[in-house]
Amino acid sequence: MADQVALRKSAQTEILEKFRANSRVDLIRIAGPRDCSTAQTIQGVYSKKEIPELPMHGCSRAEGCICAYKPVLNDIYP
Ligand SMILES: [Zn+2]
Repeated sequence: MADQVALRKSAQTEILEKFRANSRVDLIRIAGPRDCSTAQTIQGVYSKKEIPELPMHGCSRAEGCICAYKPVLNDIYP
């Protein structure tokens, strides 16, 4: 169980690093299901610097936190 949490965390961290490194990603949104208490408190759009780490501790979802990072692409063309 602890291993599963660690795996999920490293996957999330990897995704976050990719978004941070991608210049087309302007902002990062956190999205989660309604039955996730964590999603309800943290979901929203964050700057690359202010984005909280996922998965969050204290998620009420029985199967574990499935909150995810979603990229907000910078689609302003010069
Ligand atoms: Zn969650």
